[in-house]
Amino acid sequence: MGSQRSLLRSLSVDTAKRKHYCKANKRHVLEKGQRILVVKIDRDRFHYCFDCALKFVTTARSGLDALETELRSDP
Ligand SMILES: [Zn+2]
Repeated sequence: MGSQRSLLRSLSVDTAKRKHYCKANKRHVLEKGQRILVVKIDRDRFHYCFDCALKFVTTARSGLDALETELRSDP
């Protein structure tokens, strides 16, 4: 990647190694073996369930689209 920094560095998909609770909603239980989204912020790691992760991805995608539109617009 060279000097290009990934905006998504702090995000990764992992498999739950043990039982977790979704950071967005404690009632969303992440069972061992399920796919989860891991968000690393400083030294903290937050775990999110599939549904909440998909919402994040959708929100992030529209945010990136808006950012690109703004970048490309004439000053
Ligand atoms: Zn959730």
